[in-house]
Amino acid sequence: MSESNDEEEDWSNYASAGYSSAYDPWADLVPQEETEDFDDDFEMDEFASIRPPPSDEGLDHLVSIGTCDYCIARLSGQPFSWDGAQNLGATIRKSSDERGATKGDDVQFCPFCEDLFVDMDVLVEEIKSKLSGIEFKKMQIGAHFAKSHVAEEDDLRTRNGATGSQALKSAFNDALSQKLKLELKDVELVKEQPEIMVLIDTLTFNITAELRSLYLYGRYRKLKRGIPQTRWPCRACKGRDGGCESCDETGLQYPTSVQDQIGEPLRVAFQAKNTAFHGMGREDIDVRCLGRGRPFVIEFKSPLRRYADLSELTELVNATSAGSVEISELRASRRSEVARIKGTAAEKSYTIRFKYGPDPHVIAETTTESDEQSEEIEEQPKIESPAELTPEFVKEMIASLEGVTLEQRTPQRVSHRRADKVRKRQVVSISEILVEPNEAEMTVRCESGTYVKELVHSDEGRTVPSVAEKLGLVCEVIWLDVNDVHAD
Ligand SMILES: [Zn+2]
Ligand SMILES: [Zn+2]
Repeated sequence: MSESNDEEEDWSNYASAGYSSAYDPWADLVPQEETEDFDDDFEMDEFASIRPPPSDEGLDHLVSIGTCDYCIARLSGQPFSWDGAQNLGATIRKSSDERGATKGDDVQFCPFCEDLFVDMDVLVEEIKSKLSGIEFKKMQIGAHFAKSHVAEEDDLRTRNGATGSQALKSAFNDALSQKLKLELKDVELVKEQPEIMVLIDTLTFNITAELRSLYLYGRYRKLKRGIPQTRWPCRACKGRDGGCESCDETGLQYPTSVQDQIGEPLRVAFQAKNTAFHGMGREDIDVRCLGRGRPFVIEFKSPLRRYADLSELTELVNATSAGSVEISELRASRRSEVARIKGTAAEKSYTIRFKYGPDPHVIAETTTESDEQSEEIEEQPKIESPAELTPEFVKEMIASLEGVTLEQRTPQRVSHRRADKVRKRQVVSISEILVEPNEAEMTVRCESGTYVKELVHSDEGRTVPSVAEKLGLVCEVIWLDVNDVHAD
């Protein structure tokens, strides 16, 4: 029912964890005759101790083993920028050619990058097509390399490159970033908090794009009773796909929710896959939420659109949910605000109306009635005010609860999902007490987490003190409204 933070994909972990499988890129290669000579050459190199680049000898050696222009530049020990890398490499190659150094005929790929740099234009085109139709301004790229490739390149670079040459992974990232910047002019490449994360598998050239969730903050007013805050899966079918008969194939216990009243029109506007709703506390289904409304953060998952006029979106929600849910103060938010919203212990003000009268059990005990009839009495208590019960007395008793600290044992109605314990909560103030012969109304401000209905009817003595206890009568809540959430 409620979405916890743990259920959400942790983006930062995803981005940094990379791929865990350490597959071997060489596994599918058939060993060739040349491989032996190749290895021998390296051992010979070590003994021959070729002076590394930037010496001509070292550069000639890079050329002779089939190094690509990009890697020549990278390993040359000469200063360069990635947009000039290919030119620098080609220039160095030309000089080497003139000195008589040539690439061996048997070399198929650059031994350092396996032609990743050479194929980068293809990769950039594929990334661009993957991102078409997605709105974003901040992008992060991540590349996965097979561990063995990284290790081999490290070894090869140490032996044949200039001291301090940039390693394969960071060089690839820099080179790709440089090309992407030229292609995607309005996009900023970032190292954290991207709107889109592009992951490239350098072995398969498989590209995945992950869209970061979009978060909005606002306050909602719930003007109608009978609407839950978040989507509830159907109790019968547990919300399975296609639902069941009892939920009209919706998979939902209630046809709508505050989450959907707000989230659906916006989800469509952002072309998102789904929503998660986080309120600063929640009211019961039968409780309205009025006043300035309750703060919330709503999350849109995998949104294809993310820039919109928030006042237009506010109007959209208020028009489509007219009369049931209204929103205001809509603004951009972020993931970290979810924790703040959930962790804020805001005082709340309620207006509550209730019946009061003698205990129906007392009537049942003093009269001789059949079981059937006494059950009837229990369900519909006949409330009559005793003659001595003056409005002044009722008002005085209600007012006496102002400032008290309640001891509330977990109410029976929530005991199936909450631990059974006694909580202490303060009644901050009580005002606007209205007393009629059988009914009364009051506005009460209390600490976060107070069970307000129980403050009135006592939950069979589990909440102490209570209006029922003060009056020595039975109280029954008729309706309850949240008037304000005192936060933000
Ligand atoms: Zn290369
Ligand atoms: Zn169902």
